Amino acid sequence: MAHQEHTSIKHFLAVYSNKGGVGKSTIAANLACGMAMRGFRVGLMDGDVHGPSMGLMMGNESHPEPFGESGYFPIEAHGVRVMSMANLVNEETPLIWRGARVHGALTQILNQTNWGELDIMVIDMPPGTGDAQLTLAQGLPFAGAIIVSTPQELSLLDTARGINAFRQLKVPVFGLVENMSFFVCDACGDENPLFGNSAGEIFCEEFDMPLLARIPIDPEICNAGDAGKPLVIDYPERPSGKALLNLTDTILMKLEESQTVQLFHVEWQDLGFLERRPTPPPSEPSGLSVNNVWQVSTDEFGIEFADGKVWIQSARNLRLECPCAACVNEWTHEKILKPEDVKPDLSIVAIQSVGRYALRFVFDDGHDSGLFHFDRLRKLADQTA
Ligand code: ADP
Repeated sequence: MAHQEHTSIKHFLAVYSNKGGVGKSTIAANLACGMAMRGFRVGLMDGDVHGPSMGLMMGNESHPEPFGESGYFPIEAHGVRVMSMANLVNEETPLIWRGARVHGALTQILNQTNWGELDIMVIDMPPGTGDAQLTLAQGLPFAGAIIVSTPQELSLLDTARGINAFRQLKVPVFGLVENMSFFVCDACGDENPLFGNSAGEIFCEEFDMPLLARIPIDPEICNAGDAGKPLVIDYPERPSGKALLNLTDTILMKLEESQTVQLFHVEWQDLGFLERRPTPPPSEPSGLSVNNVWQVSTDEFGIEFADGKVWIQSARNLRLECPCAACVNEWTHEKILKPEDVKPDLSIVAIQSVGRYALRFVFDDGHDSGLFHFDRLRKLADQTA
């Protein structure tokens, strides 16, 4: 999915459940606030268009400020940038996406929001394995997904279907969050399991994924949600608050790890001036929109997209499209870099993937600060085809 160029998002995290009512939005809101409390720049997108509740849960239901002709700035709440259908549906003026199909609405909200720079975008996914959920999962370069369930819902085959859907789309499933699984006695601190102790463990073993957290049932979680201030903010020391913040740290670690996994890494080789390799080398499908990256000649690279399209481009032409702050004015979007600033025989030192969404080109003039998102590369490929 192409998001706007004023937006730069490092990691997308999906928070998923098979059914409504298991606490998915609550977990998403607490995670986002927990990450913001840890100093990260966080966005929270309410993708649950059937029951939008994020505005209420985050305590800000005001209308987003307009940006440009049809865009919006996100709402700020507790240090998190939030967009929710709830923030938009109460308006009397017709919405640009009113009448659009559900997943169209999600895509538009994401795309037309000026998120700015974010470390993490938490997406509260629509529950179930229907259209909206799959479209979102297909269109975004998720670093990972977490599955939220209560112990009694775990046996349902549908949860398995959701997990398999992510896996088929090559989105790593980080693990399971078992919500409302036990009750901590306020007086004595004893943990009382509500549905037996082992449902989550057995499930995780079967699906070969970690049990990320067990969150107790706690009336304060509910009260905090109703008051528009997720629990971790005021109650980090309660057992439920500790469990939610531990979960936050686990996820932050997983996101960090996902960034260090390099999907593509091409070191430039000394090819003779006459040697040219226009055919992509054999590769396994990456599961992403970019399948393969390789060196074509001394100064050309090739990209094979998932649909089989092959794009060959020169280092110099790509360098001229560099979106980094040294090459493009962040505010006016005007190009600072001039063609005469780039030497005619520019070549590449290396191409590296960043997360599951972008490539970094290291050019032989020392420039390496531009991140080329996969969807932007695709746009450039289509323009120059
Ligand atoms: P979903 O997004 O899965 O539909 P919600 O996050 O809206 O579910 O949660 C449903 C209800 O359960 C809300 O009232 C919420 O405050 C409450 N809730 C969620 N998790 C807990 C918990 N661990 N303890 C107590 N109440 C919870």
